[in-house]
Amino acid sequence: MNLTNYHSHCSFCDGRAPMESFVESAVKAGFTAYGISSHAPLPFPTAWTLLRERVDDYLQEVNRLRGLYGGQIELYAGMEIDYLNEEQHPAILYFQQLSLDYRIGSVHLVYTPEGKIIDTDTSVENFRRLLAEEFRGDLKGLVSAYFLASMHLVEKGGFDFVGHANKIFYNVEQCEPDLTRGKWYQKKLEDLFAFVAEKGLYIEINTKCYPQRGCFFPCLEDWKWLKRWKIPVVVNSDTHFPELVNAGRREALQALLENGFRTVAEFHGGEWQEVPISL
Ligand SMILES: [Zn+2]
Ligand SMILES: [Zn+2]
Repeated sequence: MNLTNYHSHCSFCDGRAPMESFVESAVKAGFTAYGISSHAPLPFPTAWTLLRERVDDYLQEVNRLRGLYGGQIELYAGMEIDYLNEEQHPAILYFQQLSLDYRIGSVHLVYTPEGKIIDTDTSVENFRRLLAEEFRGDLKGLVSAYFLASMHLVEKGGFDFVGHANKIFYNVEQCEPDLTRGKWYQKKLEDLFAFVAEKGLYIEINTKCYPQRGCFFPCLEDWKWLKRWKIPVVVNSDTHFPELVNAGRREALQALLENGFRTVAEFHGGEWQEVPISL
């Protein structure tokens, strides 16, 4: 039944409940494996990342829950690690030395032409404001910064799968509907997914926004690249609420089947395996 999820948050970062509530919810939903992946510490404080001084507590809490629920579910300690710059990304020694079962590599932040850091993973209204104020309305400039960071993330490596690749497409489409379908944008996607394949990384199908927006990250239109290069996919809900651990999972698996995918990657016994999709 492919009841697994390896991308989830909790109150150690910006998730809305304690880690244990998410685990309880996953057990109740019959999940066989569940990974906790708080936003990794950044070199500056934010409202959404795990604090570096709390990393030990975070790992200990996963271990404590493994002791309590280990008979019912495989529990894993992961982290969603941002690519920010040459000094801050999943491959740096600090993240490689942590006793994590797996790592997610994601891009949320980009540098503006003035060297300011902005978060692209934001509401449409805020995205429009940032585009106007920080990029002088240059949408291609903003998109280029995002894909440059994504390419650097893949180049550095040090993680298992790319979190929500091309998540920016949704906000871009709200600003300029045709840009994502054009040659310029498609070339960026082709280059990114080709590079992911070359590096032997996996791609997640992120279902977080499926309940409200009806789309996945990467979106259905991008899946042709995953098929072309036979990139293994991991279906994840990226949940921030215990009641949403399972949101969009079945729909994503159904869509994968309809698009000719036959397997998904699942982490069991501490290893990634290709498992047939069965609904
Ligand atoms: Zn993310
Ligand atoms: Zn996340």
